[in-house]
Amino acid sequence: MLPPVPVPPNGTAGGLRQESLRELNLALVMGVIAGADAPPSRAGIAAATGLNKATVSALVDALVEAGLVAELRRTVTGRAGRPATPLRLAGGTVAGLGLEINVDYLGVRALDLTGAHLDERIQRRDLRGSQPGRTLAALRALAGQVTAGLEARGLRLAGVTLALPGLTDAGQGPLRWAPNLGWRDVDVRRVAAGLEPAAAGPGFFTVDNEANLAALAEAHIGARQSFIYVSGEIGIGAGVVVGGQVFRGLHGWAGEIGHVPVDPAGPPCSCGARGCLEVYAGKRALLAAAGLPAAATPEDLAARLAGGRGQARAQRAIDTAAGAIGQVLAATMNLFDISTVVLGGDFTALAPALGPGIEEVLSGRVLAARWGGASLTVAASAAGHHPALTGAALAAVRRAITSPATFLP
Ligand SMILES: [Zn+2]
Repeated sequence: MLPPVPVPPNGTAGGLRQESLRELNLALVMGVIAGADAPPSRAGIAAATGLNKATVSALVDALVEAGLVAELRRTVTGRAGRPATPLRLAGGTVAGLGLEINVDYLGVRALDLTGAHLDERIQRRDLRGSQPGRTLAALRALAGQVTAGLEARGLRLAGVTLALPGLTDAGQGPLRWAPNLGWRDVDVRRVAAGLEPAAAGPGFFTVDNEANLAALAEAHIGARQSFIYVSGEIGIGAGVVVGGQVFRGLHGWAGEIGHVPVDPAGPPCSCGARGCLEVYAGKRALLAAAGLPAAATPEDLAARLAGGRGQARAQRAIDTAAGAIGQVLAATMNLFDISTVVLGGDFTALAPALGPGIEEVLSGRVLAARWGGASLTVAASAAGHHPALTGAALAAVRRAITSPATFLP
């Protein structure tokens, strides 16, 4: 379900205190269990990590006792000796809390270590030009409802990750800039105030861009390795995933395709420039061009495309958006040498309409297709509703995999 923790190179542990070495080994064992295609046994983990069997057994016992690892029923291996006990991440014991502030909703979602859904709250609101303090307090209250329920069920909180529609400093923030919210330089940590358990350790609360987190969810749920995830909402963001890892750039700001220019002389954009992708293919622009009210949904637009009054106008809006998306994606795909595009957010419902137009531009512009014979794929996201919330909860619960020692009694 969750990706493996990188194995430290030989010798890394050479100068570590005994305690740190154990912490490292616990993380190593969790990483192997989390990343395995099939539930490994203690012997399998020993073989994968190079640790001796007695050490692995002691580490696994501690992880089972802490509720991080579950033992499945023993299987007969066919060889002599005791049957092996397959191990997997434990469900229903530890929760990751994903939070999201988007332009038109607040969200909270909790997942356990296996990625299973525990609880969620979505509150529809228009947050354009909203007051940051009040909005963060409202989300904090919503998060409190979910954590109270988790606590009552005996679950422990592994971490909290906040998804934001803008540029955030890696780790704890602040949020530098979210043009569609109208927020600039906001300390967002207060959203997790009081949620942190006593001995939570560092990294309990983290912040990331919503497209990066949605891309993370897509990598897990869609089981895709290398792709560009395009998140179409009022703003347009992208998450670039290479080999299962989100490519973040120096500041975690990679993938800001919404403000790539399509036409430098085009209409003004919320960022202050002109002719950005967002003014052709963002939700607001798309609905307006199709002659639909701002409160309409992508499904309303898809319905209008099916026929009847306004169909031709809606089709023109889609053609314009697909052309603009294709143009920006072609440049991005050439830069990163990636052949798969996943359409997420509001674009998911419109993928059948947008796909052919995007593919047409890509096939003429992406070098891998024109000269390398690579086949290009434009697919709808498989990550479900509010994928950034799923990605945020997955990122939060990962703390129990990367720092399991924090969760031991
Ligand atoms: Zn812009």
